[in-house]
Amino acid sequence: MVLSALKFDCLVVGAGLGGIAAARKLVEAGVSVCILEKSRGIGGRLATRRLDGESFDHGAQFFTTRKKSFEKEVEQWIANGIAQSWFEESGHVRYRGVGAMNSMAKQLAAGLDVRREQKVDSIRFANGVWTVRSEKDSFECERLLLATPAPQAVALLESGEETFGADFLDTLKTIEYEKCISLMLLLESELNLSDSGLIKGEPGEPIATITETSIKGTTGRPGIVIQSGSEFAEKYFGEPADSISTALLGALPFQDKLKVVDMSLQKWRFAKRKEHGLSAAFLKSENEPLWHAGDGYVAARVEGAYLSGIKVANSIIESFRKAGELA
Ligand SMILES: Cc1cc2nc3c(=O)[nH]c(=O)nc-3n(C[C@H](O)[C@H](O)[C@H](O)COP(=O)(O)OP(=O)(O)OC[C@H]3O[C@@H](n4cnc5c(N)ncnc54)[C@H](O)[C@@H]3O)c2cc1C
Repeated sequence: MVLSALKFDCLVVGAGLGGIAAARKLVEAGVSVCILEKSRGIGGRLATRRLDGESFDHGAQFFTTRKKSFEKEVEQWIANGIAQSWFEESGHVRYRGVGAMNSMAKQLAAGLDVRREQKVDSIRFANGVWTVRSEKDSFECERLLLATPAPQAVALLESGEETFGADFLDTLKTIEYEKCISLMLLLESELNLSDSGLIKGEPGEPIATITETSIKGTTGRPGIVIQSGSEFAEKYFGEPADSISTALLGALPFQDKLKVVDMSLQKWRFAKRKEHGLSAAFLKSENEPLWHAGDGYVAARVEGAYLSGIKVANSIIESFRKAGELA
């Protein structure tokens, strides 16, 4: 079924965990797949940045397992050296990627055809074929999976004059996200705020979490990642980085103890999906061979993104089988 150079059975837009999980499953079933990712790195919100040679996770800090199927998968990741337990809280193990959260995504994507710095800006569907364009290239496929946060999928579906996925556009629009701002600080000395390396703020406070990176194990030198609460992020999102950093640091009770060597700030427009009433594990268009998956479904966390990716892949495989295009 493999077509030629920029033609694939299936294109996946977004190399976050949802897109990667789906692509792996599709490839295992014999489908030719290419993932198009707008960023230089892969992993989406499993994100890590280097600061003076040290790795700071600035998206998800950890993940948990609630569903049996994901628990079994994570046992495999641990056996393969991709993930490890970090600490336990309220009866739930908090897991981390080995080395950093993005190394987990990189290892899960090993062997997949991932094209980076390919920001998809238009999609068209005609005569049973999708044409998916980035600034650099044009790709074609039979089945299209959008594995981006729902608002970015909506923007793509509404990018042209044609209407696609009209049947599921309204549902996609109900999937909304909270913002978050992450501030990474490389420090001169340890703060030793907790045994685990993770401190949580109360809902509504400016700071949602503080991670001590050397305790977590991503940096050799002292460092922290401060992640804002959603109300703070909403208020400061449009402000310059300096003002945001000052406001976030001002909210720290131990600000006077900080000796900052280097810092970096990341704004997340789509950080945590808000609760909604959907029970589907992914969305499928009734009119075109078009799907949407990711943490918009199942659960608003790493686990949800992964399980949605697996379930959407099964649906796509089934559609190839029904069409007699896959054994
Ligand atoms: C600050 C923060 C803290 C978090 N903390 C936790 C936590 O502690 N525990 C937990 O379980 N979860 C946490 N999460 C949520 C978790 O990271 C996500 O649920 C999960 O990683 C989502 O994966 P995904 O594949 O659905 O989407 P994403 O990881 O967002 O992947 C989507 C990908 O699509 C790409 N993309 C978008 N538009 C385009 C385009 N037009 N063309 C090409 N590519 C495109 C993006 O660049 C991205 O790589 C956190 C998230 C953030 C941001």
